[in-house]
Amino acid sequence: MSHNPFIHDFPALQIIEKGKRLVYLDSAATAQQPQAVLHATTHYYEHNHANPHRGVYALGARATAVHENARKAVAKFINSDPDEVIFTQNTTESLNLIAYSYGMEFLKEGDEIVLSVAEHHSNLVPWQRVAKAKGAVLSYLYPDKSGRISHDELVKKISSKTRLVAIAQVSNVLGVKAPVEEIVKLARQSGAVVVLDCAQSIPHIPVDVKKLGVDFAAFSGHKLYGPMGVGVLYGKKELLEKMPPFLSGGDMIQSVHEQNTTYAEVPRKFEAGTRNVGGEAGLEAAINYINSIGYPKIIAHEQALMNYALESLSSLPYVTIYGSTHADSRYGVISFNVKEVHPHDVASILDADGVAVRAGHHCAQPLMEYLKITACCRASLAVYNTTEDIDTLISGISNVRRCMGLGN
Ligand code: PMP
Repeated sequence: MSHNPFIHDFPALQIIEKGKRLVYLDSAATAQQPQAVLHATTHYYEHNHANPHRGVYALGARATAVHENARKAVAKFINSDPDEVIFTQNTTESLNLIAYSYGMEFLKEGDEIVLSVAEHHSNLVPWQRVAKAKGAVLSYLYPDKSGRISHDELVKKISSKTRLVAIAQVSNVLGVKAPVEEIVKLARQSGAVVVLDCAQSIPHIPVDVKKLGVDFAAFSGHKLYGPMGVGVLYGKKELLEKMPPFLSGGDMIQSVHEQNTTYAEVPRKFEAGTRNVGGEAGLEAAINYINSIGYPKIIAHEQALMNYALESLSSLPYVTIYGSTHADSRYGVISFNVKEVHPHDVASILDADGVAVRAGHHCAQPLMEYLKITACCRASLAVYNTTEDIDTLISGISNVRRCMGLGN
């Protein structure tokens, strides 16, 4: 078996699939959870579960403490103030919150929203809806063959009309890091705000919102070794304070009268209804888990694996890789196609070997159109993957064309 010390922290990775140890290469869709996260969630329900901010009794106070401590842990993790951390369900809800609150309130007819064509639908469809409602214009950044967005492309698209730039720090298909520092610099010159989708970056690289200088950032707990159903929106306090609520109802108010309501201070103004405190406890444990390993070790491990995977895949003449083939500019995901075989067939044949990869459009249909494909396969990496996993993937792919009667 493997020398990977992390694999034993993850009960799901002990699963036997088709008589073999599961080879899980779909962490970009959702990561498996370490025992420490499962324990933190269960511990919350066994010892501290009540509705936060409501009960005056001791159990209620403990639930509130779990909720607020998780917020402080997230704030420290991304280098923000706790008041700038809003708990949501996931990245999708975080991005919708910005679109419906900031976008609908502050964008006007003729304003430009700049996006990359590689955006996940979660960071694209909400902006399309805002653009339609407000008469704003969507302007797309197009990456080159290696998945990078050039300086010239940025200068061409981020103009004095740009009011908002929404971009993934790492693309969920191309795996390439966006030039965030340059984008923030150009956006500042145009007076635009920057929304950073960190769903695929934060499991692999540290996100320091102050250093990056972005106005908003979003991510999901479940891609970060935490539970599903908990996500984060970071927003600069001065922006959050002037934004209207997104969802309204219980817990986000200061006082309610028959005809009007005053709202709670941020972040509670944006946290309507009962929170997922068990999920937040799990997210805090996931952050502790990442910190206990440390990003330098995570990066070194994943870069070595990425390098090995890219070299092995590139040696197969019938495989096309989308985006960079250099490990040092690629994070987490490798997207590819096998010549003359539909990606769903590739994924099904790999499944017979106990290898889990994703096939489809990866919620990035405009990117598929740009690449002139309808779908592709995606293998994604996490701390628990090993070179043996890559070997199993490669031997499975080597079988695919033979299985389909296409020779080698
Ligand atoms: N953005 C990116 C870049 C993603 O990869 C994903 C998940 N595939 C999302 C947003 C949406 O995340 P969630 O489904 O957790 O809301």
